Amino acid sequence: MPIRTVILDFDGTCTDVEQEAQGFLAGYQADLARVLGLTDIQPAWAAAEAQVLAEPSRFGMVIGGRMVAPAVDLYLLATAISTLMEPELGDEETERLFKENYRFTTMAFKPETRPVLEALASSVEHLCVVTNSEPAKVGAKLDALDLSQRDTIRLHGDARKFLVAEPVKHEGSDRFAALPETQQVAGWPRPIYVRRGHYFDALASIWEATRTTPAETLVVGDVFELDLVLPGALGCGVHLVPSPRTLDYERRGVEALGGTHAEDLHDLLDLV
Ligand SMILES: [Mg+2]
Repeated sequence: MPIRTVILDFDGTCTDVEQEAQGFLAGYQADLARVLGLTDIQPAWAAAEAQVLAEPSRFGMVIGGRMVAPAVDLYLLATAISTLMEPELGDEETERLFKENYRFTTMAFKPETRPVLEALASSVEHLCVVTNSEPAKVGAKLDALDLSQRDTIRLHGDARKFLVAEPVKHEGSDRFAALPETQQVAGWPRPIYVRRGHYFDALASIWEATRTTPAETLVVGDVFELDLVLPGALGCGVHLVPSPRTLDYERRGVEALGGTHAEDLHDLLDLV
């Protein structure tokens, strides 16, 4: 079926997180130090970071008592480290730390983002960005790209792709009801949670507005579990944009869903 809707993740997919998140990381560390009452957080942070990176399937982002994403970018790494340093931190504080320090993130697009977005905007019917980040901040960054078709790009922020819950806006959806709780990827020891209802609400809203279907949709992201597992289970095409932190099981998982992966965003243009 031809692709009519392309849905892009933003941070790490369109942007270079290693560059843009340095200010976030500094702010996050200072904030967490205050929360934990530490004058120097660096030694404990470095020890926790080493532990997280050494055992990537054991440590990650935990929300609602479930591990919902591995620490494969600096945002997720900070979250995984804070949970390891203070297991009692709680979901609310975990989300607050991310949101409040995201304001220190700067702008660092990948070099090919602008030409690829220009090409996508003129070749696909519907181009959308769905992100966990604050819509105003992401919208301003998209504005700064000065795209000729900027006004045709739909933006859904605060997507909370990490939240395993029933959908709210699309409560009772048959599509959602048919989803399994979890799926496994060969060689990856923990379950992967599929039923991310808040993310589903964003996707289903796009399908309503565009009158398109999952089978006509390609979803592109840099974190397999956050961005691609739910769309893949719904029957969308999925494409992973790996970073140097990407784990092998993420590539295997995408392949098992019939999807593709490529570091250069230009490769997307062959899929639409
Ligand atoms: Mg991302």
